[in-house]
Amino acid sequence: MSRDGDRVVSRSITLNQLGEFGLLQRLFRRIPSPSRTVLIGPGDDAAVLRASADRDWIVTTDMLVEAVDFNRAYSSFRQIGYKALAVNLSDIAAMGGRPVAFLVGLAAPGRTPVRTVDEIYRGMLTLARRYGVALIGGDVSAARQGIMISVMVLGLVEPGTAVTRSGAKFGDRIYVTGTLGDSRAGLEILKQKRRLKPSAMESTLIRRHFFPTPRVEFGRLLSRRGWATAMIDLSDGLASDLRHLCEASRVGARLEWNRFPVSAALAAYARRLNRSATDYALRGGEDFELLFTVNRARVAAVEAAAKRMALAVTPIGTIVSKGLGITLIGKESREIPLTVRGYEHFKHS
Ligand SMILES: [Mg+2]
Repeated sequence: MSRDGDRVVSRSITLNQLGEFGLLQRLFRRIPSPSRTVLIGPGDDAAVLRASADRDWIVTTDMLVEAVDFNRAYSSFRQIGYKALAVNLSDIAAMGGRPVAFLVGLAAPGRTPVRTVDEIYRGMLTLARRYGVALIGGDVSAARQGIMISVMVLGLVEPGTAVTRSGAKFGDRIYVTGTLGDSRAGLEILKQKRRLKPSAMESTLIRRHFFPTPRVEFGRLLSRRGWATAMIDLSDGLASDLRHLCEASRVGARLEWNRFPVSAALAAYARRLNRSATDYALRGGEDFELLFTVNRARVAAVEAAAKRMALAVTPIGTIVSKGLGITLIGKESREIPLTVRGYEHFKHS
């Protein structure tokens, strides 16, 4: 037995029992607290290091594992490569940084055709060119089973301006970029249809699943102007990621679910299945949009800037004091406590 925070945890406990977030918490405790060089350690979208008097480094890594994070039955290797880099760029965006360079670790069984590896890199490099990010190295290894791609991205930000999850204050408005829930619906369609030809509406949702748009430019604007008090990218789903932000900021939130931005494609898809688009928006993972909080005095400036960039940003709620937790409020102004969670590794495997 070992002391695991306030809990006594048996050493024979498995990862399934502990869950992804339990495991991360356990690992974080072994890491020293921030220093003059390490400004932000683990627990945010990325780590922040002091590079010089006029620059901070932002560093993040994310891994895609075959049969867990992707499935070759319904995605091409070019799509997988694109996404492996995109999810990391999204984490740099969530800190308000400018991505600069990346490294790739790749493990694959020896029987893998070289063409497969070429396709993965083709997907990554298409996106890298678009964002001006340089591939600077990595490592390859043989795997027994399945492909694993681990990407690490380095970014830069003006000193002390990286936006963390922990700065949300009572009264701040909660915003999201783009639309929510498309990626989850797209994945659902892929799983059902396999190789059947999808409709135009379904193709829109599938594209949103394969090709998320890292919101780097808007994230940069928010950090440079100091407009966002806290920020996170939506990887696990709104319900789960807002909870992360609220826990880090020690606040609660009131979400206005009838304001959730939902694409026309998702609205049509949900209607056809007689399901709620709001539910997709709340629980859908992998949107890779930005969730951020703004002091009320800055709301007009943020909305005007987003409009100039032709990017949809939508206020979806308000930060409240911690004891109130996260609640959903609808048209009838009845408040419902939010209990649904997003994706968590190990618990879902
Ligand atoms: Mg993130």
